[in-house]
Amino acid sequence: MTGWLAVAGLGPGAEALVTPEVTEALARASDLVGYAPYVDRVAPRSDLLRHASDNRVELERARLALELAAAGRRVVLVSSGDPGVFAMAAAVFEALEAGPAAWRGLDIRVLPGVTAMLAAAARAGAPLGHDFCTLNLSDNLKPWSLIETRLRLAVEADFAIALYNPRSQARPEGFARALALLQAICRDARPVIFARAVSTGAESLRVLRLPDATPELADMRTLVIVGSSQTRVIDRPAGPLVYTPRSAAVPAEAS
Ligand code: SAH
Repeated sequence: MTGWLAVAGLGPGAEALVTPEVTEALARASDLVGYAPYVDRVAPRSDLLRHASDNRVELERARLALELAAAGRRVVLVSSGDPGVFAMAAAVFEALEAGPAAWRGLDIRVLPGVTAMLAAAARAGAPLGHDFCTLNLSDNLKPWSLIETRLRLAVEADFAIALYNPRSQARPEGFARALALLQAICRDARPVIFARAVSTGAESLRVLRLPDATPELADMRTLVIVGSSQTRVIDRPAGPLVYTPRSAAVPAEAS
């Protein structure tokens, strides 16, 4: 029997945000591989073998998925959100590139999911309506100095900035440093969104001004969006709407 590997995103949490394509792959799978909390999001089935692993063993997990597919199994490797955004798809290709030549003949597909940034932005309004960028604040796989450089340049380019993993396990104080840096270089009161556990029962959304933002507002389940200098807040009885207008003026120094 010919095996295959689908690297699939389960979305931010709600069942309604799992794509039909991912649901179909799961229905056809013989083996489910992933970090335990994500494997738990898939309903058990007698003909579905579950391989739940610990966090931080991404390469081992990727190799296991590839080995199972090479042995003829129908494998779905799950990530939360989108598998290509700070998740398993890149780990699979790292393992593939370093692995046996035979793995290159495998049927491997990446099935997209709704990434946390998009789910969070949609809840808040349209903060990513103009140019934006995304950073992973975890410094497990890169030096902190690179995170600071990228934050500075993102602010200089006047992007809205989506921050994943604000509370890194290796450096929980990292977000405090990032926030202090942003407060020092932005020198304005742009909106900041703290979107926690979006689309789950534990969801919360907080919109503050940058000078009022504090580190403890973020945890491992929070996605932070820092507006650009142009990002606006519309106050409404039902709660604020945050959006970034579609157009930008020519910067003063370039005109
Ligand atoms: N592949 C995932 C991201 C994995 S990194 C995706 O595409 O969404 C894990 C980080 O994603 C968390 O630390 C948090 O910043 C963010 N995140 C994941 N799910 C979230 C949710 N439901 N609400 C808010 N942030 C979430």
